Amino acid sequence: MIYKFEQGLDFARNLDVGDPLRCIRKHFYAREGQIYMDGNSLGLCSKDAEEAVLDVLDVWKTFGINIWSARGGKFFLYPSYLGGRLAKLINAEPNEVTVTNSTTVNIHQCIATLYQPMKERYKILVDDLNFPTDRYAVDSQALLRGYKPEDAVKVVKSRDGRTILEDDVIAAMTDDVALILLPAILYRSSQLLDMQRVTDEARRRGIIIGWDLCHSIGAVAHDFRSILPDFAVWCNYKYLSAGPGAIAGLYLNKRHFGKVPGLSGWHGNVKATQFQLRHQYEPAPDADALLTGTAPLLSMAALDGTLNVYDAAGMDRIRKKSLKLTAYMMYLIDTKLARHGCEIGTPREDARRGGHVALEHAEAYRICRALKDRQVIPDFREPNVVRLAPVAFYTSYEDIYNLIEIIDDIITNRTYDKYSEERTLIV
Ligand SMILES: *Cc1c(COP(=O)(O)O)cnc(C)c1O
Repeated sequence: MIYKFEQGLDFARNLDVGDPLRCIRKHFYAREGQIYMDGNSLGLCSKDAEEAVLDVLDVWKTFGINIWSARGGKFFLYPSYLGGRLAKLINAEPNEVTVTNSTTVNIHQCIATLYQPMKERYKILVDDLNFPTDRYAVDSQALLRGYKPEDAVKVVKSRDGRTILEDDVIAAMTDDVALILLPAILYRSSQLLDMQRVTDEARRRGIIIGWDLCHSIGAVAHDFRSILPDFAVWCNYKYLSAGPGAIAGLYLNKRHFGKVPGLSGWHGNVKATQFQLRHQYEPAPDADALLTGTAPLLSMAALDGTLNVYDAAGMDRIRKKSLKLTAYMMYLIDTKLARHGCEIGTPREDARRGGHVALEHAEAYRICRALKDRQVIPDFREPNVVRLAPVAFYTSYEDIYNLIEIIDDIITNRTYDKYSEERTLIV
């Protein structure tokens, strides 16, 4: 889409006036005077999430162990209930989605369940820009099957350090590849891959393919009824704002229903016989088969609450605003910060861009530190990226205008000079 932006604070304020989602900000604990640009690491707490957590505490206080049967068994069936709610965000069928464990564990679970290496076809295809935990999980799954990762894990290399070309991924789908794991959106550059095309090519070759949606869920509206991958995983604490360490999501395409999970546990058993406590495991007939142990209800409640906000706003409107926020940010970077040597590491096209913008600068680390002292919360990613993630729910166009003014000031006056290059434990 072609956007027409103009300079000046008034223009930003006018965009806010015309923003159909502007009323949603009051659902969130956004701090006055702070510009929060880290919703892709940990989304802010919403009042809806808070209320839902307090409600579960109340049910626990009132019912004790009977919490599991209270409200018609809502909490016993909570993973599939929340899975059904999340399914709407990616247009999947309700019983193809469940919530359990962490993203990392869910990658292990999906690979352990669907990876069927054979003599001539045993490789797992990945890219070299994915978040490290995905790679650690893939390597250890290869090791568990008796392969050396150097041999069994095939890596598609980025040509520019920012993006992965779909053509390169497809060219790497050779006859020895059994499974593919890729991020929908790259965590550093925010490139959105053409999931439909890559998935179609994988399926044509009989290769199992899974997507990591950590940086896309809640920012991009996926259509899984069209893409039809084999599996997907994601965390719910980034754009979805389900809280620190929130339970993660998992999608299993229905063509895999009935498969015995790689990692079985009693909550993956069919509900009807789970409490007969037999030693014979009977997998649930849908994605719930991949559940393992008892679910963390308090963490799940926050997800339940935050999804109310998503239902009210609708993914289409969220994506539309998110794209406009990042387009406006890029416009201001181009017009005000390029002269300082700032570059944009994010694809420009709407169809190739996720929810954040990668601002590249040689002094990115120290600029981030200076920003924090100016009440801006960005995050830094090695070696030279300031990640700026506006969130459709609580970021205003005025926030973005002010953000760019502050960065301009920090670089113009070299305020970052007084900060050390020394990395702190958490950056
Ligand atoms: C944030 C993120 C994770 C996080 O994994 P956890 O197990 O939830 O800690 C994994 N993969 C990607 C691509 C991420 O962006």
